[in-house]
Amino acid sequence: MECIFCKIAAGEIPVTPVYHDDEVLAIADINPQAPTHLLVMPVAHHANIAALSDAGDAALTAKLFAIAAKLGRERGANGFRLVMNTGDDGGQTVDHLHVHLLAGRAMGWPPG
Ligand code: AMP
Ligand code: ZN
Repeated sequence: MECIFCKIAAGEIPVTPVYHDDEVLAIADINPQAPTHLLVMPVAHHANIAALSDAGDAALTAKLFAIAAKLGRERGANGFRLVMNTGDDGGQTVDHLHVHLLAGRAMGWPPG
């Protein structure tokens, strides 16, 4: 499968993971939008949060958010933002579910 995040999760594209276990991987975004910009993703390929919901893996969903929250707390003393762009209108460009973790500056609202 031509999925860049599957290749990263499989070790075919070398990265230095911020967090890695059998089910969840966190890496630095290649084009950071904040002082801290991580991508927290399942190792297994799910296109987006709707697909993971369809798959019915509630434990993986919970684990993904628990790890994102833990990393956010560690890196965002003053708070942080989690974002899941989903589908074309959501601005998703890589069709492998990932949670953006942004921290290290005050975020604006509404997002563009
Ligand atoms: P999205 O547009 O929400 O699907 O987010 C995809 C994110 O993946 C973007 O923020 C990209 O900068 C990031 N990205 C794309 N390729 C890589 C890569 N090889 N390593 C790390 N981040 C990447
Ligand atoms: Zn994938």
